[in-house]
Amino acid sequence: MSDFETVLYETPRPAVVRIVLNRPETRNAQDTRMLYELNAAFDRAAQDDEVKVVVLAANGPHFSSGHDLRERGARATMAEFPTVGTWCGFECAGAEAQMAREKELYLGLSERWRNIPKPTIAEVQGKVIAGGLMLVWPCDLIVAADDALFADNTVTMGVPGAEFFNHPWEVGVRKAKEMLFTSDFVTAADAHRLGMVNHVVPAAELTEFTLTLAAKIAERPLFALKLAKEAVNTAQDAQGRVTAMQTSFALHQLSHSHNMTVHGTLVDPSFLKGSLPRAEQRA
Ligand code: ZN
Repeated sequence: MSDFETVLYETPRPAVVRIVLNRPETRNAQDTRMLYELNAAFDRAAQDDEVKVVVLAANGPHFSSGHDLRERGARATMAEFPTVGTWCGFECAGAEAQMAREKELYLGLSERWRNIPKPTIAEVQGKVIAGGLMLVWPCDLIVAADDALFADNTVTMGVPGAEFFNHPWEVGVRKAKEMLFTSDFVTAADAHRLGMVNHVVPAAELTEFTLTLAAKIAERPLFALKLAKEAVNTAQDAQGRVTAMQTSFALHQLSHSHNMTVHGTLVDPSFLKGSLPRAEQRA
C-alpha cells in the first residue's frame, strides 16, 4: 500500500511499518519530493496508534548516495510542498534562502525524525554517503548488511560536514574528525565496533533480521517504548547535542556563503569537475 512516488509504505509484521526508499536508479539520491514523501510516511506511521515500530529501508544495492545534486532550481520547488518548519523565506536573496531551505529540508526533517516517539530502525545496505547519513542517524537502531559503507565527503566539496551534524555522537570525536578530514568510508564492521551500528548481518539476511528485531520490540507496551526513547534522547540532549548541532549548522551555512562568494557555487567546483576524489569512487 503506497500512494507515494519515491517511497513504499509496507506493513510486513503486526504493528511494524517498513518505509522503503524507492529510487534505486539514482542510488536513492534525495530530491525534495523524496524527503517530503519520507516525512509524510513517517507521520503516517507516527499517527497510526496500531503501529509500534518503524523500519526505514532502501531498494537497490545502495541505501542512499545523499542529496540529489542534480536537482536544479530547487528553491522554486519548495512552493510545491507543505513545509513543516516556520523559518521560511525560501524565495529570499542570498544566504537567507539557502539557510531557510537547509533548515527546513535537512536539519529540520532529520531532527524531526530523530524525535518521532516510536522506535525506528534503519535497515542499511551498500553505500550511505553524506546526506544518506541524515536518514540513517536519526533512527534509534541501525542494522547494517556486511557490505554497508558510510562516508561524509562534504569536506571534499568545501563544506564542513552534512547538515545534521551528529558525527561526534555516532562514531566518537576521533573517528568523526578522520571521517570528515579524509572523506573515507567507515566499514560496517568499524561502525559496529564504534557503536554506531547495532548489528552487522550477511546482506541476504538483512531484511529478515531487521523485521525479527522490529517484531520483538513491537511485543512491548508502546507507551513504555516511547518513554524509554524519550529518556535516552533527553540524556543525549542534556550533553549539549542540540546546541552543538545548531553551531555546526551555522558553520555549514558559512561554508556555503564562502563558496558562493569565492566560486559562485554552493560547493567547491573542484568537486563538481571531478578533480578531487569523490567517496563514490573509493571503494
Ligand atoms: Zn548544505
